[in-house]
Amino acid sequence: MTKKYQIRKAFKTYIPEKENWKTVSETPATNVMHWYRDGSGYKGCFGAGLYEPGKNYKRNWFLGTMATVFQAEVLGIKKCSELLVSRMTTKKHIFVWSDSQAAIKALLNPSADSKLGWETMESLQKLGTNNTVTLSWILVHEHIHDNEMAVGLVKQGATQGESPKAWKYKICRKARAIMPDPSKKRSKHLLVMDRKSLAIMITLLTGHDRFKEHCRVIGMDSDGRCRFYNETKEDSLHILCDCPALAATKLRWWGTAFLTTSQVTSKEATDLLRLGKKAGLHI
Ligand SMILES: [Zn+2]
Repeated sequence: MTKKYQIRKAFKTYIPEKENWKTVSETPATNVMHWYRDGSGYKGCFGAGLYEPGKNYKRNWFLGTMATVFQAEVLGIKKCSELLVSRMTTKKHIFVWSDSQAAIKALLNPSADSKLGWETMESLQKLGTNNTVTLSWILVHEHIHDNEMAVGLVKQGATQGESPKAWKYKICRKARAIMPDPSKKRSKHLLVMDRKSLAIMITLLTGHDRFKEHCRVIGMDSDGRCRFYNETKEDSLHILCDCPALAATKLRWWGTAFLTTSQVTSKEATDLLRLGKKAGLHI
């Protein structure tokens, strides 16, 4: 492609200091939209994920083996702005959060020599004409402590106590979304885990204990919002399925940035345990 130029940009960029990014993502105004995107590689294939907590919108795209992580990052931004343009979004303050400063800086560049880069610039330009668009950088949470839990024992009986009859009651909505039916295989895997791992699994599968939304319900947390980006309430489904802070990890491990509840159901207990540790669900 011959080089194309975009001198004036209809979007701003924001690369906050570590201590400031939380305040921005908490902005509660009604005409503010927060979109999170991720680009990452998995087994030599690259893809992008897009997530909007307000409407619980999530999608993945795959670029195949010929792409790079950088292209996946830019693709995520392109898909986001194209989607908002196609919805005829106007008069909104739109924050597109990306963990790639390289992608943000490339789009700020006055010239583009790739089709993808140019189309993304054009799309952002269209979106920025009727909205205030900010490409914002957000920290990647790769440093989340993977260390073992120190304390915290949950009685094994908590998993054994459920009889098939219990599934008929309309309680424990989150637990039943992830475990729609009793599973002997899952029980078997859980019961051979050490107690610390089992505690994490029970937290994940029941949505109790360490989740901030649960802490809010029992009066131990003021807002119940996600520990990573404050973007929405933090419950088990958010961490297992939607959390943008864990999207790159899921994409790398499993080839999909955002999981549906049935994908969670079909995951091995050891996979979910690994994710629980990554999310810092240690006691
Ligand atoms: Zn989150």
